[in-house]
Amino acid sequence: MWNPSVESSSSQSLRNPETIAAIATPPGRGAVAIVRASGPGVRDLARAVFVGAALRPRVATLGTIVAGDGRTIDEGLALLFPAPHSYTGEDVLELHVHGSVAVARETLLALLEAGARMAAPGEFTRRAFLEGKLDLSAAEAVADLIDAERRGEARAAAARLSGGLASSVERLRAILGASLAELAATLDFPDEVAGPSRRDLMDHVGAVDVELAELASEWERGRLVREGVSVAIVGPPNAGKSSLLNALLGVDRVLVSAIPGTTRDTVDETLALGGGAVARIVDTAGLRLATDPLEAAGIARSERALAAATILLVVVDGSLPLDGEARSVLERTRGRERVVLFNKSDLGRAGYDGRDAAESDALVGSAHAPPTIDAVRGALARAAVDAPSDVARPSLGTARQADAVLEARRSLADALATLERGDPIDLVVGDLMAADAALGRLTGRDVSEAVLDAVFARFCVGK
Ligand code: GDP
Repeated sequence: MWNPSVESSSSQSLRNPETIAAIATPPGRGAVAIVRASGPGVRDLARAVFVGAALRPRVATLGTIVAGDGRTIDEGLALLFPAPHSYTGEDVLELHVHGSVAVARETLLALLEAGARMAAPGEFTRRAFLEGKLDLSAAEAVADLIDAERRGEARAAAARLSGGLASSVERLRAILGASLAELAATLDFPDEVAGPSRRDLMDHVGAVDVELAELASEWERGRLVREGVSVAIVGPPNAGKSSLLNALLGVDRVLVSAIPGTTRDTVDETLALGGGAVARIVDTAGLRLATDPLEAAGIARSERALAAATILLVVVDGSLPLDGEARSVLERTRGRERVVLFNKSDLGRAGYDGRDAAESDALVGSAHAPPTIDAVRGALARAAVDAPSDVARPSLGTARQADAVLEARRSLADALATLERGDPIDLVVGDLMAADAALGRLTGRDVSEAVLDAVFARFCVGK
C-alpha cells in the first residue's frame, strides 16, 4: 500500500542537493492548507508520508498523510510535478490537507522527519530563478503579486511576471552588445575592419537611453500604484473643497490617532476609504484650474499634482447654474478616473439638474451632510479598485531595478559625451560595458549572491 512507482525519474539539478519543504498557504484556518516540497528527494518524501494510489505527474491523488510513526495525520491530496515542469524547475510535491494550523504543521514535520529541510523565505522562488524558470525581475514580481492588495497592483505585478521587463531590457542589451562587438572588432583588427561610425554609435546609444528614460519615469508612476492611490481634490474656489476634505479627514483623525505611533502629519494626508484601503490626499494647496495668467506658477504645480493623482475628486457648486469655471473643470477631468460631487444641494440643485451627460453618474449632496461624506468615501474606494495602472508597458518594480537603470543611464551619458567631444570612439567601450553590466543586474543575468539574498529575503517562507 505504500505509494510506489512514480513516473520515471527525470534529471535533477546538481545545484540543490537538498530537498526543502514549507507550508505554502498563510497561517490560520482555511479550507485547504498546502505543504510543499522541492528537490531531488521529493519522490522519497512522497513514499514516506503519503499512502494512496501511485502518483501520476500533475494529477491530484487522494490518500492518507501519515507521520513517521505511521499515525494518520489527515486525508489529503498529493500532487507531483516532476522536473522541469514545476514552479522551481525541480521535482515538486504538494500535499493539500485540511486547512488547520495543526494539520499543516504536522504534515510539514512529517516531511522534515522524512529528510526534507525547512525552506528559507523565498527559497522556492530562488530555486526557480537558479533553474532559469524566471528572471530576477519576474521573481520580484512574484513577491509583489503576493503583496498586491489592489487589482491595479496585481495587474502590474502580473505583467512584470510575464517577463515583459526582462525581454525589453535584454533587447536594449542586445543593441549595446552589437555596438560593443563592432568596436571590439576594430580594436582587434584595426586595419581590416571598418569600425562603426560615430553617428551610428551615437544613434544606438541615444536610442537605448531614450527607452531607459521612459522606464525610469514609469517607475515614478509605478510607485504611486504600489504605495496606494493618491487623490487630488479639484474645483473652483468656494465650491466646498476644504469643507469636504475636512469632513473626510475629520473622521480619520479620530480613528487613526488612536493608533500609537502614528504622527499627525501622516494622519492629515491619509484617508481611509473603507475595507482597509487608504488613499493619500495630494497637496491641494491652491489646487484649482483657474486661467488667470498671474497664477501660472501655482497652476503649473497644481497641474503636476493633477497629472500624478490616481483619482480626481471634482467638487463644483451644484446649487447654482454652472459657471464657466465649473464647466471647464468638469470638461478637463473627463476621461480621468474621477468622483464628481455637485455640492451644496441644501441650497439648491440648479447646477446638478443642468449637468451634461458626461456627469450623469455624479454625486449630489452637501459637504456638511454625513451621508454625502459616506457616499464620496464609497465612490473613492470603488474608483481606487478600478483605477488604471497602465500595465501595457513593462515597468520597473523595485528600487533596485530603478537604481540599475539610473546607473546604466549614467554610463550611457558618459559615452555620449565622449562621442560628442570627438574623442576616439574606442574610449566608449568601458562605458558601454558598464551600462550593459548594470542592465544585466536588473534582469538578474549578472547578479551577485548578496543581491539575490536581498531580493529573496522579502519573500515569505513557502514561496
Ligand atoms: P473651497 O474654496 O472650495 O475650499 O470651499 P470651502 O470649503 O472653503 O467652502 C466655501 C464656503 O461654502 C464656506 O463658507 C463653506 O462653509 C460653504 N460650503 C461648503 N460646502 C457647503 C454645503 O454643502 N452647503 C452649504 N450651504 N455651504 C457649503
